[in-house]
Amino acid sequence: MSIEIKIYNKIKLMRLGVVITMYIVMLGAPGTGKGTIGKILSQDLDLTHISTGDIFRDQISRETELGKKIKSYMESGALVPDDVVIETVKTRLLEKDVENGAILDGFPRTAMQAEALKNFLKENKPNAKRVAIELDVPDDEIIRRVVNRLICSNKSCGAIYNKETKPPKKEGICDICGGELKKRDDDNRETVTKRLAIYRQNSKDLVDFYRKNNALYTIYPKDVDVAVKDIKKFLEEYKKGISQG
Ligand SMILES: [Zn+2]
Repeated sequence: MSIEIKIYNKIKLMRLGVVITMYIVMLGAPGTGKGTIGKILSQDLDLTHISTGDIFRDQISRETELGKKIKSYMESGALVPDDVVIETVKTRLLEKDVENGAILDGFPRTAMQAEALKNFLKENKPNAKRVAIELDVPDDEIIRRVVNRLICSNKSCGAIYNKETKPPKKEGICDICGGELKKRDDDNRETVTKRLAIYRQNSKDLVDFYRKNNALYTIYPKDVDVAVKDIKKFLEEYKKGISQG
């Protein structure tokens, strides 16, 4: 494509007022740093961060009917069924702060959920583009990360630490807000191993789904800052491709 056509297309898009909104799907087993990386991206790109884990934990702490159901699934290490997850996320995606796009963490988790998201966006947000970022970390490293994970119990903070790789300055106390650091009930070796097995079972079709749609970027996030930089670079290129194509 010549540079003139590229510029013409860009101007045309601007005249039409077409705003491309991005729905970025974070893929990766629990413990790959998805939450941390997703939150940094959401701040840097000014996109709302939607974590199904957060929504679920909120429902559980408010002891809603949905929360009680979810709690029994989570405690057994099983996944919350597709239909429950899909309804929960759809409701969230219709809220105002998601109009300009979002970063989705923990959803979709199966190819069926990915299909549901695709159809939902087609119907409700015609200018939306989906792209998946896959964080690929070996299982033994994930287990090591998760069993050493500590989370700030102050809900408005939620900072994540690691006894081995990112300890707080003062033991048991959050560097940022001074809140108490706690281990999540389900962050133990047994539950993590179970969750990993389930993730591996479901993720193959899910990753294939995005690969077939040419909307997949896979990365081994050894270092959070480097990973964020790489992902942002990829998203820039991806967006350019969309506005020129
Ligand atoms: Zn804190």
